[in-house]
Amino acid sequence: MANPKHLKTETLLIHGGQSPDPSTGAVMPPIYQTSTFAQEAPGAHKGYAYARAKNPTRTALENALASIEGGTYGLAFGSGMAAVDAVLKLLHPGDEVIATNDLYGGTYRLFTKIFADFGIVFHFVDMQDMAAISSCITPKTKMLWVETPTNPMLNIFDIAALGKLAKVHQLLLVVDNTFGTPYLQNPLALGAHIVLHSATKYLGGHSDLVLGGLVVNDAALAERLYFIQNASGAISGPMDSFLALRGIKTLHVRMDRHGENAEKIAHFLEKHPSVDRVYWPGFSHHPGHDIAKKQMRNFGGMVSFSLKNDTKAAAFRVISHLKVITLAESLGGVESLAGHPATMTHGSIPEATRKEVGIVDSLIRLSIGLENAADLIDDLEQALER
Ligand SMILES: *Cc1c(COP(=O)(O)O)cnc(C)c1O
Repeated sequence: MANPKHLKTETLLIHGGQSPDPSTGAVMPPIYQTSTFAQEAPGAHKGYAYARAKNPTRTALENALASIEGGTYGLAFGSGMAAVDAVLKLLHPGDEVIATNDLYGGTYRLFTKIFADFGIVFHFVDMQDMAAISSCITPKTKMLWVETPTNPMLNIFDIAALGKLAKVHQLLLVVDNTFGTPYLQNPLALGAHIVLHSATKYLGGHSDLVLGGLVVNDAALAERLYFIQNASGAISGPMDSFLALRGIKTLHVRMDRHGENAEKIAHFLEKHPSVDRVYWPGFSHHPGHDIAKKQMRNFGGMVSFSLKNDTKAAAFRVISHLKVITLAESLGGVESLAGHPATMTHGSIPEATRKEVGIVDSLIRLSIGLENAADLIDDLEQALER
């Protein structure tokens, strides 16, 4: 199937960019576990020569990624970080990037500990403040890097407004849509040039793979990214590509339930006497609520909260007494996970920077899964009693 624009998201998640395998009719693409492909004469092949450059299982996933983001070109990488790495390789020494100050820890680490050494300059700003972004723009600025909702503070940024700013200043707008997912929001339609995914999270959805994706519309940009993908070689393997494709087919059903469960848990936490603040964009008092309502289908499956007793020890006490919710890094799977950002996912961010964005010592991040919401609430209730 091509990518008919009239089909709705739910249909595209299952069929977008997909067609039965031409040789057997297999409905799911075979896992082409091969490194190379026979040629009839030197250079005469069926579009596949060597599996770093192209593998049919990966191609099936790349087509699906493009389709579900409403884009033209998809690329799949060995991890979300490999996708971030490929995007940064579009830049040259001296180029400047303006990024959200509340960024996934691994992205922050790659920016500041690796690409800064290659002469790329990074500015971290609160992207709720358009004036703050504008004041960082210089003739050397090449890229705006945005996550929305952010991790772990669940701040929301106005993608359409950032798209306009990027257009005026001829900047590439990159949106990490890992928390949003293509079911909840489509940044390309709002003016982004590159959409990035850690498919390890909601796209895969079952905590059984590590994979990254990019989607773009511009042919020249796609060609450069394919060149980088093949040249650097951080591709996704056929097995993981297959699993990601399988996960994508149920994304809409899962995201609806993730959103419903997260809403119930956010409301429970907000009323709990031991809880200080709850971060969830569905609250009308959340500063990004109106923008979230405008650009997202629901408010996602992530909820963060802090405790009145703002200490690491108190947070550890709660987390370690959870019985249904698992203490683990990552998010977006069918099972609920709890994490302590200050020591886990965001440990590589300096303490002062962490505190500035609100990652206090007692902050707990929940990835709300697909269990019965009442069981999750009971679990949190008994852990908060401690
Ligand atoms: C996990 C994550 C990444 C990195 O992806 P990996 O697949 O773990 O390499 C990037 N951005 C966000 C928002 C993430 O949550």
